[in-house]
Amino acid sequence: MNAARRLAIFQRLAEAIPEPASELHYATPFQLLIAVILSAQATDKGVNKATARLFPVAPTPAAMLALGEEGLREYIKSIGLFRSKARHIIALCRLLLERHGGEVPRRREELEALPGVGRKTANVVLNTAYGEPTIAVDTHIFRVANRTGLAPGRTVREVELGLEKTTPRAFVKDAHHLLILHGRYTCTARKPKCPVCPIAELCEYPDKTPP
Ligand code: SF4
Repeated sequence: MNAARRLAIFQRLAEAIPEPASELHYATPFQLLIAVILSAQATDKGVNKATARLFPVAPTPAAMLALGEEGLREYIKSIGLFRSKARHIIALCRLLLERHGGEVPRRREELEALPGVGRKTANVVLNTAYGEPTIAVDTHIFRVANRTGLAPGRTVREVELGLEKTTPRAFVKDAHHLLILHGRYTCTARKPKCPVCPIAELCEYPDKTPP
């Protein structure tokens, strides 16, 4: 795909999605980090429902630690893998207090050293909380990047590197949310909505849904 087409794709996505932001509810980088950890194999909606009760009682690492693993489980038991998530979150809060003064670090290596935080979660926090030009590739972005031809790749890492290398500068910061929301609502896994897709003429997917 050439640079002009790539730019046009992002321009159109930006027009179609005027507010490219996370659908998770949070008020601080710490709350975003917790919401992202909880969202693994869970829906944003389900996470928001749990954190609407959790964050008022445990808005900070110290308060979360005071809640304890068992206390935390009560708030998140409707979410998949809640036992291991509760364990990771409590260990993470302890580390945040011991090593980072209760703040969420801004460096990738420090983020990835926290329990339950992998590359994808670190990328989301760096991009969404701190405005870094990182692109966390989830299942939606992986699909959209491959179908459209924006950044074909067999692995998440390949797609991430492809997107970081080729996304037009003006869109690097918003690319993550533009592509996620496009994948979630238009370029859906089954039966993508090609007839109403704003980038249909630019997309290189050979098996588009017919009108
Ligand atoms: S045209 Fe279809 S396959 Fe291409 S991006 Fe749009 S919805 Fe996805």
